[in-house]
Amino acid sequence: MKKLHQIVVVGGGAGGLELATALGRRLGRKGLARIVLVDASLTHIWKPLLHEVAAGTINSFEDELNYFAHGARHHFEFQLGRMDGLDRERKTLHLAPLTGEDGELLAEGRDLAYDTLVIAVGSTSNDFGTPGAHEHCIFLDSRAQADRFQKKLLQMYLQAHALPASSGAAPELNIAIVGAGATGVELAAELHHAAHEFAAYGLDEITPQHVNITLIEAAPRILTALPERAAEQAYRQLMKIGVTVLAGQRVTAVSAQGLRTASGLDIPASLRVWAAGIKAQDFLKDIGGLETNRINQLVVTPSLQTTRDDSVFAFGDCASCTLPGMERPLAPRAQVAHQQAVFLVKAISARLAHKPLPSFRFNDYGSLISLSSADTVGSLMGNLLGSVNIRGLVARLLYRSLYRMHQMSLHGVFRMLVLLGKDLLSRSSGPRLKLH
Ligand SMILES: Cc1cc2nc3c(=O)[nH]c(=O)nc-3n(C[C@H](O)[C@H](O)[C@H](O)COP(=O)(O)OP(=O)(O)OC[C@H]3O[C@@H](n4cnc5c(N)ncnc54)[C@H](O)[C@@H]3O)c2cc1C
Repeated sequence: MKKLHQIVVVGGGAGGLELATALGRRLGRKGLARIVLVDASLTHIWKPLLHEVAAGTINSFEDELNYFAHGARHHFEFQLGRMDGLDRERKTLHLAPLTGEDGELLAEGRDLAYDTLVIAVGSTSNDFGTPGAHEHCIFLDSRAQADRFQKKLLQMYLQAHALPASSGAAPELNIAIVGAGATGVELAAELHHAAHEFAAYGLDEITPQHVNITLIEAAPRILTALPERAAEQAYRQLMKIGVTVLAGQRVTAVSAQGLRTASGLDIPASLRVWAAGIKAQDFLKDIGGLETNRINQLVVTPSLQTTRDDSVFAFGDCASCTLPGMERPLAPRAQVAHQQAVFLVKAISARLAHKPLPSFRFNDYGSLISLSSADTVGSLMGNLLGSVNIRGLVARLLYRSLYRMHQMSLHGVFRMLVLLGKDLLSRSSGPRLKLH
């Protein structure tokens, strides 16, 4: 019997899971190829939701998807493991030893063979080696980190709640967020919203007025990836809800007490979040002799193949893809990962049929920033209109529809509508904040 072509997708995130699902439906179901998805975690949660997980305004246990169950339904196999090496000559990737929750060894490190390999392991924030950042900041790169932040935040409210009423001045909560890109801005607004929800549920010892949120940005303005007008609207809304925005301030050191900037400012903070910069993970640097850039991203051609190996593809945040006519590589955004996943289904099918591969073309539909209950701002891109600023309810509905579109590409229209209904029901009957 002829051996099936084995396609291994590493990373089941915004891009990788959509790709494995579509390949499973198109090739796996008909027995035209064997599709294997590898992820370091057992469940998927869409990364742009992480600031809401951190603030507790969504419950990560309700929005997660199990890879084994999803694979069985969509004709791909799931392997739990963390990739840490690549042998291009033997066409195998290496998975690190598997450990349980208490650190016990479950399985030794192992090799996995591929005929076509797709790497989609995402990115992490970049602390640029800032002293103390790694030890004293929380990062929002994974669901586990977002859950940890939510627990810490809740603990602070529980601690204040347990204090005797006569114990003196009202407690303050100082939160500092480094980086005023989409993640930092959305998190600041979401935390402001969460502060009001805590008070509404009776955890009102730390009043919303005593929650001081400071957003620190090295660039002269916030949201540098967005048009100036949209960024200005977001800035004004943040000021209105009481977030302190310090632009043009570079953080040079972090301690357990707070942050210090290059201009000598000391910002006290009991919760410190690092949401600035991006880089691909260190294990990708020169992996298997492939070309990588200074932030460890794999350099790819317009067909999303790595420059030194046609059988290894990379996409999403971990890839550096500069298209013809563009000066800079595509930005690390869910929109890019989604469009690349759709493209790769066609490109990999062409590869299996020994046909020439197409080139990826990116359509920028604009960017939206959620300021939680305060507002949603952003810009839409259209061929005829150019860039158009939007905000308010329409922007909010469009922002929410992005997650529903991700769900639609994973589950189809019917199941997406069922999930939407379930979410609406549980949000109208359950608490608006995760309090455990
Ligand atoms: C809080 C926040 C808000 C955001 N908001 C927006 C937004 O509004 N709009 C937008 O366009 N973008 C947004 N982004 C960016 C967006 O989330 C990313 O661009 C997108 O998720 C990239 O998709 P990806 O598939 O490349 O990687 P990811 O979605 O990060 O997925 C990577 C996957 O790889 C797995 N993995 C990692 N390392 C390994 C390994 N060694 N072995 C095996 N598996 C591994 C991870 O478990 C994960 O499942 C936001 C990001 C954050 C953090």
